[in-house]
Amino acid sequence: MNLEGKVAVVTGGSRGIGRAICIRLASMGAYVYINYVSRPAAAEVTQKFIHEAGGKAEIIGFDVAESSEVQAAFKKIIADAGSVDILVNNAGITRDGLMARMKESDWEEVMNTNLKGSFLCAKAASRVMMKKKWGRIVNISSVSGVAGNPGQVNYSAAKAGLIGLTKSMAREYASRNITVNSVAPGYIETEMTELLDEKAQEQIKSEIPLATFGRTEDVAGAVAYLVSDDGRYITGQTLNVNGGMYM
Ligand code: NAP
Repeated sequence: MNLEGKVAVVTGGSRGIGRAICIRLASMGAYVYINYVSRPAAAEVTQKFIHEAGGKAEIIGFDVAESSEVQAAFKKIIADAGSVDILVNNAGITRDGLMARMKESDWEEVMNTNLKGSFLCAKAASRVMMKKKWGRIVNISSVSGVAGNPGQVNYSAAKAGLIGLTKSMAREYASRNITVNSVAPGYIETEMTELLDEKAQEQIKSEIPLATFGRTEDVAGAVAYLVSDDGRYITGQTLNVNGGMYM
């Protein structure tokens, strides 16, 4: 699974699942752009891991939900690195709460980062991919988007929207040899799951056939497969990485 010579952009690549994706793609030879929005120090840690392993990585801070920032960032990446071959739309936020009490701002922030941000980045990246007649786009959805989850109407809607974006983009871009897929993680050990108390963790694990949370590397492995040559004939799909929680 060699990505030598490919330029990859991973939004929200500074920590959590995004960090594991950056490390994995760099280990396959890709030149990785690590994106963050508010915590540059986390991006520096990711870059350090990659450099220490002999990989190549740059850091680029921008807000995926701001059109002007996205356009400027992709312009810079293309000017500096000459291309964007792989895009992983991973940046995501939650603003959980029951619908009856959910503020419009909670809806908008989640939609803007998770869904609009992915649209903006995919639009910017696909321009150069179309010219090169090669590209790989992976959108990080969620089990909440495929199965629904109480307390997450905003997040579920955004993540389900990403699956629709994936399928329509896959159809539009297939003739240019650009594949577009989603990966839908279940519960993955990150800062988010660490916040759950022990009782809540046990309750969730009892609903997972493999009876454990996933690791960030499990998601990175799925992304690596889809962007590699082994995944060349797969497009418009959603790969569930959830321990069997939804099937
Ligand atoms: P995380 O640890 O909270 O990290 C989120 C990343 O997104 C950070 O790098 C953050 O940058 C970045 N980010 C947030 N808003 C951004 C914006 N507007 N522009 C650019 N970057 C932004 O998240 P995670 O748990 O690894 O989740 C990664 C993805 O997987 C998300 O899309 C999430 O919805 C999805 N997912 C996670 C789980 C899970 O169990 N963790 C399950 C299913 C799906 P800063 O640190 O600079 O703010």
